[in-house]
Amino acid sequence: MKFKKSEKLYKKGLTHLVGAVNSPVRAFSSVGGNPLFIKKAKGSKIVDVDGNEYVDLVGSYGPMILGHRHKKVEKAAKKALKKGYSFGASTEAEIKLAKIVCDAFPEMDKVRFVNSGTEAVLSAVRLARAFTGKDKIIKFSGCYHGHQDSLLVAAGSGLATLSLPGSKGVPKGAVKNTLIAEYNNLESVKKHFENHDDIAGVIIEPICGNMGVAIPQNEFLIELKKYLKSKNALLIADEVMTGFRSKFGGAQELLGVAADITCLGKVIGGGFPVGAYGARNEIMEQVAPLGGMYQAGTLSGNPIAMAGGISTLTELKKQNPYDKFEEIGSIIEVILLETAKKYNVDLVVNRFGSMLNPFFTKTKVTNFEEAQTSDTKKFAVFFWEMIKNGVFLPPSQFEAWFLNSAISDKDIQVIANATDKAMRKVADSF
Ligand SMILES: *Cc1c(COP(=O)(O)O)cnc(C)c1O
Repeated sequence: MKFKKSEKLYKKGLTHLVGAVNSPVRAFSSVGGNPLFIKKAKGSKIVDVDGNEYVDLVGSYGPMILGHRHKKVEKAAKKALKKGYSFGASTEAEIKLAKIVCDAFPEMDKVRFVNSGTEAVLSAVRLARAFTGKDKIIKFSGCYHGHQDSLLVAAGSGLATLSLPGSKGVPKGAVKNTLIAEYNNLESVKKHFENHDDIAGVIIEPICGNMGVAIPQNEFLIELKKYLKSKNALLIADEVMTGFRSKFGGAQELLGVAADITCLGKVIGGGFPVGAYGARNEIMEQVAPLGGMYQAGTLSGNPIAMAGGISTLTELKKQNPYDKFEEIGSIIEVILLETAKKYNVDLVVNRFGSMLNPFFTKTKVTNFEEAQTSDTKKFAVFFWEMIKNGVFLPPSQFEAWFLNSAISDKDIQVIANATDKAMRKVADSF
């Protein structure tokens, strides 16, 4: 397999783009080598500029749940495109998407569309503060909520415990109202409430996908919600990754918890830039123009993005691929575990429906600290061998793999063969 054209573009890209990428997760810094440049994609496959074809398990980090260029989505977006790109005024499409979204989440009466997951979360946090009149927010170490200042903490376990910013350029003042708790540990949340009386709420990835996949244990979310209610604090579910993916009604539907505020992104736009936050009426009425919490956007509710979202969610509802995801997901999980066993490689696989990933460790992974026990060097070897055998994975040990409904039996064969070669290479290299 050759990567000549990708290499050439990478070098060219370095001049005017930072690291030749527009999001650091696309850089190959933790696996070595140069990032691949993509030419096109269709269905379950993605093709790089050198013409190499891969089964795509990145899915643009979540949005491409139907696979690439689903014909109904493409048709809807093209139709919208012909009517104009942006009007600075409302369109009927916004009302349609709002209904689909609010119908999917039990405690969501109203929704506001924005352009990204980051924007959805930063607005949701402002809303929680506006509604409760309190300032502090608890987040869990290892959960990612976009790149806004106040939540860019706990990017590493050392920083996490000290509550120091996880990025240069984030002032200490911006994170002074952010408290860090440990995922799956209710006591660590209670401790903060014992020490502070101005906590507006807790933000959580109900299924965590940003330390790799980590799953709430033993009714953690249900207990958390109950506790927060007793403290008059809000539960903010960051379902940017899990919304419409874990289930049509997100992780909340599966886990039987209703959040006070829900953040959405990724799947909701089907590959077009859409984010959203929604809640029951009394909370959403805080938002301008109904209330005093300001949040705005020139391109929010963009008609082409709305068309992409409506068609994606309509098709998704029709396909109802969640049982299929469970089936394919468990097959891939078994493939990973059995090849690891065959070649004597320590491996843990975490999976929730269509989100999964292997950790090169023997420690059970339920939080960020445990995820950190993984051997990232082994992952790097594994990653490149998967690429060379036709499977496109996120270039990081700590990113989830995403399934799409276009994956075929043949694709699973490709994944199985690649996994066998990659696991053998890992065993040979260490
Ligand atoms: C991806 C993600 C975000 C950020 O969304 P962007 O569209 O990248 O800004 C926020 N929260 C979670 C849980 C995510 O997975």
